[in-house]
Amino acid sequence: NINLLLPWDSRSATPQDYFFKEDGKQVSTKLVDQVCSHFSKLTDKAFDDELKHKHRKLSLGAYLDDAFGESPLAAKEDGQQVFEWCKRNECTDEACSSLYEVSASQISNYSALEGDFFNTLGPGGYRAVLDVLLTDLPSGTIQCSAPVKSIRWDLVRKGHCENQRYPVQVVCENGQSFEADHVIVTVSLGVLKDKVSTMFEPPLPSTKLSAIENLGFGIVDKIFLFFEKSLFYSLFPKNGKSWEPDCNWKKTWFKKITGFDTVARHPTALCGWITGREALYMENLQDSEIRDTCLRYVPEVSKTLISRWGSDSHVRGSYTFIPDGVDGVKAHKALASPLLPKDESRGRKHLQVLFAGEATHENFYTTTHGAYLTGVREAERLISYYAD
Ligand SMILES: Cc1cc2nc3c(=O)[nH]c(=O)nc-3n(C[C@H](O)[C@H](O)[C@H](O)COP(=O)(O)OP(=O)(O)OC[C@H]3O[C@@H](n4cnc5c(N)ncnc54)[C@H](O)[C@@H]3O)c2cc1C
Repeated sequence: NINLLLPWDSRSATPQDYFFKEDGKQVSTKLVDQVCSHFSKLTDKAFDDELKHKHRKLSLGAYLDDAFGESPLAAKEDGQQVFEWCKRNECTDEACSSLYEVSASQISNYSALEGDFFNTLGPGGYRAVLDVLLTDLPSGTIQCSAPVKSIRWDLVRKGHCENQRYPVQVVCENGQSFEADHVIVTVSLGVLKDKVSTMFEPPLPSTKLSAIENLGFGIVDKIFLFFEKSLFYSLFPKNGKSWEPDCNWKKTWFKKITGFDTVARHPTALCGWITGREALYMENLQDSEIRDTCLRYVPEVSKTLISRWGSDSHVRGSYTFIPDGVDGVKAHKALASPLLPKDESRGRKHLQVLFAGEATHENFYTTTHGAYLTGVREAERLISYYAD
């Protein structure tokens, strides 16, 4: 692997990883390794619920500052800068603009799957997973390019839509509508934050609205740079930079890029990661401007591919985090709970509107497997409803 800075999933620096300062000088690999290892130990304490009492009420950023300040590494030349880079890098895992937004104690709710960490999928990408799931569905079951405008629920009740046979109606932006006994809503937390006031009729209960408001949904973007030739042996060590945060952040948004990593199976590509407000700012720039900015630091690129998850009206961000001061379990549970009809005594169908998606999982939030498992959870909820 040849990386401009560190690979995003790095728990410690390897001889193949390079750190450079803004003046072009390389940072000692030994120091980088020491700081990254120590940073990893400190974050592990938070994930393993082993925080000292004084750190439990702090944001993740404030806890790390305090704990790192106690280490002799903080006083070493460049130690603080590498630590700041570690924090920026951790923002990609937490999908936040800054670690000061994230709760230190609540991240222990997150469960990592066993096994090695892989940052890329096989050649088929996620499509391969979908293909397997789709084989069991009759053709035509899935309707694409028909965004849902509103979900009307609790329709079958006295004095209200008397002729209505089904309790839920899904109305699409193109005017199509579907009636159903049950609807499972899987739009992202970002979409719920953006559209909740118009998407549900009657409105969602206050517990669910609070959960939608309180949970965080951050932005993580990728900037892929493609080159004519394989990058091996041609690029590094050369031109690399390690950034300092800047209060004039709109002019220096690119300093939030944590580095450029090589990409599995794509020897002519590099991938840069960027998060938070700088990512959202970047999303509004032209590809050519982003490319030209990156070109200051890497050789001529032949093509760029840039994600814009924050501006995408069907996603509005990347994945969920638990902000400082929020009870994550309570919020995930409230988000996952099905809507109950207003008056349960009249024999109306229950489980009219159910909720799935990564933000509704208490331990696997942020992840695709979490999203998948919540879909299974809601399907099973309906199966047992009819089995009882
Ligand atoms: C840069 C990046 C890197 C990531 N890396 C990883 C990783 O390494 N591992 C991992 O496990 N996860 C990763 N994730 C997170 C993963 O992508 C999400 O957790 C997962 O996609 C969540 O699935 P979901 O079904 O909950 O929501 P989504 O994937 O957002 O699916 C919701 C669907 O609802 C649709 N929709 C929205 N609005 C409407 C509407 N009005 N009508 C109809 N449909 C609508 C959307 O088009 C979308 O298809 C990453 C995400 C990003 C952005």
